[in-house]
Amino acid sequence: MSLDALLKKAAQRLQAAGSSSPRVDAEVLLSYVLGRNRTWLYTWGDRQCPPWEHARFDALIAARAQGTPVAYLTGEREFWGLRLATSADTLIPRPDTETLVECALGRVTSPTGRLLDLGTGTGAIALAFASEQPGWQVIGVDVRAEAVALATRNAQALDITHARFLQSDWFAALAADETTGKSFDIIVSNPPYIAADDPHLDQGDVRFEPRSALIADANGMADLLYLVNVAKGYLAPSGWLLLEHGYNQADKVREALSNVGYQNVESVCDLGGQERITLG
Ligand code: GLN
Repeated sequence: MSLDALLKKAAQRLQAAGSSSPRVDAEVLLSYVLGRNRTWLYTWGDRQCPPWEHARFDALIAARAQGTPVAYLTGEREFWGLRLATSADTLIPRPDTETLVECALGRVTSPTGRLLDLGTGTGAIALAFASEQPGWQVIGVDVRAEAVALATRNAQALDITHARFLQSDWFAALAADETTGKSFDIIVSNPPYIAADDPHLDQGDVRFEPRSALIADANGMADLLYLVNVAKGYLAPSGWLLLEHGYNQADKVREALSNVGYQNVESVCDLGGQERITLG
């Protein structure tokens, strides 16, 4: 069967199975199996697919039709133009979170400084920032050892040596570790912020992601409020705290920041026009 025909058939199958991006899913998975990029597929669509690759592609499409996220099937995801390894131990980096990287870069006023990323997962935010700011010292922490290992592996693969990762329950290891210091110019986090009873948790890729990276107590606000309160002790005097949150949490995060004494508090919209980042 030609690559074009194979893609068409797979996209139809994924559409019937309820994928919101059937054609792209099929293209990404076929590119992955063939070890080519998607542009190559467009050029060589009339080629025949070799049998072994065909079988492998069919197996991936079957898994995708069951709902497994594409990023877990290929083991990678692009974020900020960087290829990041992903695993079921971490959240899959999302385009919305690139807005958080943009906001953090927008707060940079010196070629040197220190950034802390809390709940770093794949290391996406820390590594994207580090890739743009070679003079900064970047630290990413995560409570899961698997995430720390993955982020470290991503840093190595990207040859980013000024970002390092350590296992820490929020600030716990920083408080204990003299070498990391306690004063940061920028602290960022994309913490868990979804309420446990949110129906969104039963749809699409989130069903396969670690609950610990998604769900927070107090209707999704617990970790955001904790970070607002505790981060202050780890910020340089004119430092910035930037938090990603749910589309309906901006008011509460702004209020919490103002109550604790943060200044220049504002929210920024994601690509879908929802207030997604709040900073102060
Ligand atoms: N924005 C993600 C979602 O809605 C959740 C990310 C998070 O909880 N930090 O799927």
